[in-house]
Amino acid sequence: MKGAGAAGLAKMSGRLLLLVTIAMASMGTGRAVADTTFVPIPDNGEKVYLSQACHNGQTSNCQENTGCLGHMGENAWSDVFADATLRDATGSGGLLDRQYIVRIGNGTVSQNILSSDAWGAKMHIPLHSNAEPWDCMSPYNTATFGTWGMYVSTNGSQLADQLRLRIGPSSPGTNDKIVKRTDLGELNETNAVAAYLEAEFHTYGLGWPWLHDYESWDWRLGYAVDVCRGYPRDSNGDKPTAAKSCSW
Ligand SMILES: [Zn+2]
Repeated sequence: MKGAGAAGLAKMSGRLLLLVTIAMASMGTGRAVADTTFVPIPDNGEKVYLSQACHNGQTSNCQENTGCLGHMGENAWSDVFADATLRDATGSGGLLDRQYIVRIGNGTVSQNILSSDAWGAKMHIPLHSNAEPWDCMSPYNTATFGTWGMYVSTNGSQLADQLRLRIGPSSPGTNDKIVKRTDLGELNETNAVAAYLEAEFHTYGLGWPWLHDYESWDWRLGYAVDVCRGYPRDSNGDKPTAAKSCSW
């Protein structure tokens, strides 16, 4: 799987990147809110909105979920992971290496939905880690945990399934699956095809070290998107030969 993810990317490294906007004045999230848009040169014309975890509920403040042993919380992890998916240090290809136009949103849930729609995202991917009550101590039941792709639409299920297939084998839990959720605004209210990543559990003793080791597997997000979309490239780009797995 790793080889397939890396296919055709070597020649793309080192190209220029245009960092376009810092937008959205707002307040109350408990952190600086500024959506940032990244446009690689060349780009493949497909826009991916990465929505950082916030969990603001009915308030304007993001609530942090701290996992095992007080390690970095879900929101903080989501912040660094979003950036890491742009360029991949292992050479397997980040989203920009793969020519996707990316916006990272760090507002509240509703702010990110509005920004994604206004921007005209083709794909909307919230970045989260999961939680269940657990004491984080061994013995671990690996079959309880794993990486989930959540969706509500048929199109979203296809992207969610690629998140499961490409990221799941890397995460330590073995219960990788896609889950239909009808109660999530980022699935219901976004115009883009939406798939919500729950990358392993931060309340799982083997899960949080894996989450922290994101630099070894962050390329898998771009890989999932690329397999779904069939490796779209501009006319001069290197395009691995592969049919897209998603029907849209
Ligand atoms: Zn979450």
